[in-house]
Amino acid sequence: MNSFKALVTREIRDGFYDSQVETREIDSLPKGELLVRVHYSSLNYKDALSASGNRGVTRNFPHTPGIDAVGIIENSSSDNFKTGDEVLITGYDLGMGTSGGFSEYVRVPSDWAVKLPPALGMRNAMIFGTAGLTAMLCIEKLQSVGISPDKGDVLVTGATGGVGSICVTILNALGYRVLASSGKIDKASFLSDLGASMVIDRETLSEQSSRPLKKEAWAAAIDTVGGDTLSNVLKSIRYGGAVSCCGLVSSPEFATSIMPFIIRGVSLLGVDSVQLPIAVKQAVWDKLANQCDDLPLERLATEITMDELPAYIDRILNGQMVGRVVVKIASKS
Ligand code: NDP
Repeated sequence: MNSFKALVTREIRDGFYDSQVETREIDSLPKGELLVRVHYSSLNYKDALSASGNRGVTRNFPHTPGIDAVGIIENSSSDNFKTGDEVLITGYDLGMGTSGGFSEYVRVPSDWAVKLPPALGMRNAMIFGTAGLTAMLCIEKLQSVGISPDKGDVLVTGATGGVGSICVTILNALGYRVLASSGKIDKASFLSDLGASMVIDRETLSEQSSRPLKKEAWAAAIDTVGGDTLSNVLKSIRYGGAVSCCGLVSSPEFATSIMPFIIRGVSLLGVDSVQLPIAVKQAVWDKLANQCDDLPLERLATEITMDELPAYIDRILNGQMVGRVVVKIASKS
């Protein structure tokens, strides 16, 4: 086997990018100790940025996006992994500068891979993907500052999206009362099926206001949106509450006064799932594996093929995502 199929994004003319499934040669993959036959990948917002030529994510084209991959090792020169091991790779440089998971093969450094927890399975691993890892990290951050279910309601913004929908699902399973902010009011039943107690129209959180504080509303929040939404969320967090901040689909910038922090003692907690040390990633994946039987993961999932990726990339860029898109790459053999 010397060639394989992969999605390839090319700059077709100045500033215009197009992605198609192409045949590539194994020798074109970067160096690395692990050659992995990919079985599933998943679609994240960052993949859509890469596939649309966002130079903050990917500098050089042609390029194969895909920040997530799960599969079976076909060749290993690492003492920690052997041929036949099932491994999971998320983040670091995968799908950014390094050829990514929208491909039948990836070749990566061994310290980017975690052993797939047997209880998880490859498909569930990609229903979670980077979104699930990030959701769990956001929840752990809130727990680390004492936000337990008895403290009050937790708001999730961008709730129908990948990170948001998994946050709603896991928080509900952990016993939190979850409020979901969404621009897709027609998806209220999807959110309530995942465990949201109430759905809030995201317009109510995106208005600009010069007031430094608003009425206290939520014990905590997980924000995937940024911009004015994050500014407004901070103003309404109850005394002693906290916000996990992981996303920027609205804007990477936000305005805030000092007031939420010094009058109400609110904590703003940053979350990164990309450069996290591999041992921490493994521990979070083990935790997700232990929980997956209690979560309605199939309700979150839409399975597509590599050929369908360009259409779904447009959907995620237009904020139309609902739940998680799992990309089936190869059959288990
Ligand atoms: P998705 O596209 O799946 O979800 C984003 C959701 O945000 C949409 O479904 C929509 O939900 C809402 N939304 C979209 N556009 C806007 C807008 N202009 N204003 C307000 N809300 C909007 O993305 P992901 O869940 O994959 O990622 C969410 C964010 O988290 C991204 O910014 C991503 O880069 C970031 N991220 C960060 C990570 C980290 O390590 N820090 C890791 C993973 C993701 P609705 O219609 O329900 O409001």
